[in-house]
Amino acid sequence: MKKERRITEAPGIGRKAAEDLLSLGVSSLSDMLRFRPRAYDDRRTERRFRDASIDDPSVSCRITVMGHSEFSSKAGRTLKVTAMDDDGTRVEILCFNRYFLKQQLRTGSVWYIYGKAMRNRGVYQISSFEIKRTKEEAGIGRILPIYPLTGCLSEKMMRNAADYAISALSPIPDELPSEMYERLRLMHHSQAYSCIHFPSTMEEARNALSTLAFTELLLLELEVLRKKPQREITRKSELTGLERKLLASLPFQLTEDQVAASDEIRKDLDSPTPMNRLLQGDVGSGKTLVAWLTALHAIAQGRQVAFMAPTELLARQHADGAADLLSPLGIRIAFITGSVRGESRKLLLRSLKEGTTDLVIGTHALFSEDVVFRKLGYVIIDEQHRFGVQQREALRQKGERADILSMTATPIPRSLALTLFADYSVSVLRSMPKGRIPIRTYLVSEEKRENMYESVGVEFKRSHQAYFVYPRIDDEGESDLRDVTSMFEFLREKYPGVPSALIHSKLPDDEKMSILRSFKEKKLMYLVATSVVEVGIDIPAATCMIIEHAERFGLAALHQLRGRVGRSTLPSYCFLVYSKNLTDEAKARLRVMKETNDGFRIAEKDLEIRGPGEITGEKQAGFLHLHFASLTSDLDLVEKARTEADRIVKEDRGLLKAENAVLREALMKNNSYTSVQ
Ligand code: ADP
Ligand code: MG
Repeated sequence: MKKERRITEAPGIGRKAAEDLLSLGVSSLSDMLRFRPRAYDDRRTERRFRDASIDDPSVSCRITVMGHSEFSSKAGRTLKVTAMDDDGTRVEILCFNRYFLKQQLRTGSVWYIYGKAMRNRGVYQISSFEIKRTKEEAGIGRILPIYPLTGCLSEKMMRNAADYAISALSPIPDELPSEMYERLRLMHHSQAYSCIHFPSTMEEARNALSTLAFTELLLLELEVLRKKPQREITRKSELTGLERKLLASLPFQLTEDQVAASDEIRKDLDSPTPMNRLLQGDVGSGKTLVAWLTALHAIAQGRQVAFMAPTELLARQHADGAADLLSPLGIRIAFITGSVRGESRKLLLRSLKEGTTDLVIGTHALFSEDVVFRKLGYVIIDEQHRFGVQQREALRQKGERADILSMTATPIPRSLALTLFADYSVSVLRSMPKGRIPIRTYLVSEEKRENMYESVGVEFKRSHQAYFVYPRIDDEGESDLRDVTSMFEFLREKYPGVPSALIHSKLPDDEKMSILRSFKEKKLMYLVATSVVEVGIDIPAATCMIIEHAERFGLAALHQLRGRVGRSTLPSYCFLVYSKNLTDEAKARLRVMKETNDGFRIAEKDLEIRGPGEITGEKQAGFLHLHFASLTSDLDLVEKARTEADRIVKEDRGLLKAENAVLREALMKNNSYTSVQ
């Protein structure tokens, strides 16, 4: 490999500057080439003082010096230069801490000035400015890059270094197969690198950026795709008798997406290559049923199935659901959590070891060491983002080449999912079960609170149920618990005779479970809760979700909470009560919630606000050292890169064809792509 040419080669970059550049990630000329300006300063059109406005105070024009005076300011004796631009507009140049300018700015001399002007009692003044002898020096007529700076670096040094890097590394070779440039309307790379630093129009800058971003994403997608294990395609997978029986017992039809996802999973279960599949589905899209259906397929093949949920509450709810649906089919079900101890635990462990349990449902207790299976063949993980990678692996280890299905209700755009979850296959449930009515969401200010209580009261009269949610209990600091408790009292007075319960994470799990059961049986009409109800709770007759201090919840949590209602064919309502003094971000979040029920849209918005690493719940995105592309805002490019990468890998997996040599080289050189996971 050719040796990298060091940045110190560039004129004006000494030891100190090189150190500062290093802290920005630039050590070679080629790093400088890839160093992206954070913005541009468009000085193409001359802007005289009259053109300056509050919205755009920038000026860049020629002036003639008229005279000097002084005034005192906090900075001491300060020079004031009077000048005139070509319109004849009088300007006062306030030279704070720049008294030395008096020598240069002689009366009658002509200069080019740029900076930000203001108007003070009818007079144009400028104190933040640069002043140059020539138009070229002042950059007037050009678009100049603005780089992030640190230490001793100045924009001028950076511009010189970029300029030097471009000419020193010329001719810059193409980085993509040549046929792609025209077909995808991309700039050749020599032009793209030059235009990203020194564009002659803003459009050129945008085109350069999108070419460079696309190139990066294409390499990333190629890497991701090439790492995926190739699996032989199983042509047809038949439903077993067990699956047919379950389907026949349901009072409804599967959605199209449920059918498609379970087909995909069934094929994987029939193939000898271990499955690692992510099932993404919006809240309420019916992931659990897909899990049970495919579990039956594995059980029919003589395998044991483990289903893991993040909390005891959810695990119990799933165990109840499985008991209702699967026990009648003769499936032997067990339930394990940390609180299953003593003799019953012993019995349970034995039945797993001997293979007399077909399906075990539990919490992370499932991967404690003493849990041994006879033939664990299929592992299902609910709310996978709640578990770490190691935990999932630990459970997989308990089986021999076990298939894994990870379910998540944090839907993200498919192309992004495929990229972030590089070694997963992905199935998506996008369609909702038939007959669901979109949840209506209201933003409620403090003053409107009473109306809200009234509306909820009407729902109680119709025998519909509600959740009142308050922010999570914080063990330290001002306790929200008191809030839940006092609101519980308050609501009891508000709705006399309507049975209710208080539920929060500090209650023992048995108690939580019995509260939820009573709620399901309509012995309780509303729950006053913390976000323990956030994930997975499934009570179809609940129609009202009231979230207080809604501004304190993230988008994903709000969407999850809202997803607790709207789970039947009844119309449902979500009330987001907010306090005064919202931050802009909080306002944006609430607006998104009001605008859409679509989890995919919400996730996209969340991506914009928080970044992909946080979304996936794992710092999976941390490894992506992308200079030009953003996985959050360039979704269209991600999609395009994915399509191209798919095609290339299908045609030439080893990148051995001549036209793909540039890609192979780039992948070998660029180890930022090879450290995926
Ligand atoms: P989530 O994807 O949020 O985990 P669940 O699996 O809890 O969703 O399903 C939500 C509700 O929808 C459950 O009450 C379930 O019984 C019901 N359900 C699932 N599939 C269908 C369907 N095809 N038609 C009608 N209801 C369905
Ligand atoms: Mg669920």
